[in-house]
Amino acid sequence: MKFAFTLFALVLASVALAAGPAQTPRKGKTEVIEKVVKTDAEWKKTLTPEQFYVLREHGTERAGTSELNHNKRKGVYVCAACGLTLFNSDTKYDSGTGWPSFWAPIDPKHVGTSVDRSFFSTRTEVHCARCGGHLGHVFPDGPPPTGQRYCMNGVSLKFEPLTP
Ligand code: FE
Repeated sequence: MKFAFTLFALVLASVALAAGPAQTPRKGKTEVIEKVVKTDAEWKKTLTPEQFYVLREHGTERAGTSELNHNKRKGVYVCAACGLTLFNSDTKYDSGTGWPSFWAPIDPKHVGTSVDRSFFSTRTEVHCARCGGHLGHVFPDGPPPTGQRYCMNGVSLKFEPLTP
């Protein structure tokens, strides 16, 4: 009996080790994000002109124009260009800026950042880790628990409700 218990503990420990640290990839296996690379001409076939302007040309939608701004439904926000999951509705909050805002991405590996020195300021640009599509910027003035404000363009996102 004691042997069986020890064996069980060993198995549990090895499973825990194999699973890695707490930032566990979903579905128990390491997620590899394969890049999506397309030419502008290819993107233009699947994106609306406004989506192309924001996602591929680092544009910014006019504040208050996205219908996702006041969306309070439960669900997941995915990249409008490639469908990669980006934000969970649980982290969405009203920042009062006129752009959909979140305090954390659904997975830190799903978004990338770069330094943006346009408009005479230094900001942190946020893009989709899979297709490189521009999403918005992140600022250090968000709410707890992260203090981050992911200020996103609604046109860069597609909302997938939990219950359709
Ligand atoms: Fe994408």
